[in-house]
Amino acid sequence: MSQLFHVQSLMEITQRPDIVFVRGHGSWLVDEAGKRYLDFVQGWAVNCLGHSPAPVAQAVADQASTLVNPSPAFYNVPSIELALRLTGASCFDQVFFANSGAEANEGAIKLARKYGQKYRNGAYRIITFNHGFHGRTLATMSASGKPGWDTLFAPQVDGFPKAELNDLDSVRALIDDQTVAVMLEPVQGEAGVIPASVEFMQGLRALTAERGLLLIVDEVQTGMGRTGTMFAYQHYGIEPDIMTLGKGIGGGVPLAALLAREEVCVFNHGDQGGTYNGNPLMTAAGVAVFDALASHGFLASVRERADQLRDGLLALSEKWDMEGERGLGLLRALKLKRDEGPAIVERARALAPEGLLLNAPRPNLLRFMPALNVSADEVVLMLDMLDDVVAGLRR
Ligand SMILES: *Cc1c(COP(=O)(O)O)cnc(C)c1O
Repeated sequence: MSQLFHVQSLMEITQRPDIVFVRGHGSWLVDEAGKRYLDFVQGWAVNCLGHSPAPVAQAVADQASTLVNPSPAFYNVPSIELALRLTGASCFDQVFFANSGAEANEGAIKLARKYGQKYRNGAYRIITFNHGFHGRTLATMSASGKPGWDTLFAPQVDGFPKAELNDLDSVRALIDDQTVAVMLEPVQGEAGVIPASVEFMQGLRALTAERGLLLIVDEVQTGMGRTGTMFAYQHYGIEPDIMTLGKGIGGGVPLAALLAREEVCVFNHGDQGGTYNGNPLMTAAGVAVFDALASHGFLASVRERADQLRDGLLALSEKWDMEGERGLGLLRALKLKRDEGPAIVERARALAPEGLLLNAPRPNLLRFMPALNVSADEVVLMLDMLDDVVAGLRR
């Protein structure tokens, strides 16, 4: 009997299709009826090495039988190894590990406020952006600029005035003596894959430095190779003060990180913590993921697949009278012009014998977040399947 008969025991928080997945490998998922799906969602850009990647499975299995959790009050080997790798690959000096992107961003907000108390006369406001997304805790929902979220669980956490992405004057206009930081996604993901421009990022770095403000990049979606460099800020020729990571950092397991330059690491004992933070089971997975991403040629192949995906999406856009595409690396969006997104997602999933999993963060937009080790053939297959779906829809 299908497990679908028992789903009423799960709290209903979103509409899910009538499919129960039982297995995954690389770019493919398999449901309980045995149907295969080519997955270009990958848990929302989480499975950077695809489903159940061997290095992560091995690292978790080995670590599970070695040491799972000595408690965050003690040091453990994998967390030290992963912190060393992350600081070695970035402009940051220290790491705090968390369990979700929202929790890492909460940590970034707390760290900035602490910095404000220590060095900036109690300044606490953090300028964030309309349509930005930083997570689903109360503070990170308040920091997000998703329409409707300002009243959803009112009252909001105070202190997150909203500017417009790629509009430096809109940031400048919000700075006052209570401002301590500016926080943004280098590519707004949930908003529909909208990259910050190089001029804007460089202008923002200059402006924040001049006014003594911290620059926080939320790289929960863009970090860990997603955009073709290890971290997206590296495309812009700038160095932020704080960065958060999530999603890809664990290759599918719950792991996130807060990184900062040494001068900004101002937590006192007891200010920050958490039962599972930096546990060896998850950080061992993180080490395996990092080593795969840092291996010779890996990021170059991400950039090749990204070019291939971009060219293929542009060709589809041309053929079907759409509005082109945008993105950075393997985080891309196809601009549909019409509100066909939800219908395309449904029809792609229903394709037989093999389905295709896509995401439409907005009705007129499709978002593509394949595994970073997706093959050239799989990109071709996805483009062919998508072409079929659009042809069927327009017929
Ligand atoms: C997904 C996401 C988050 C939230 O991460 P969770 O692990 O779901 O809490 C925060 N910021 C950005 C940019 C994200 O894409």
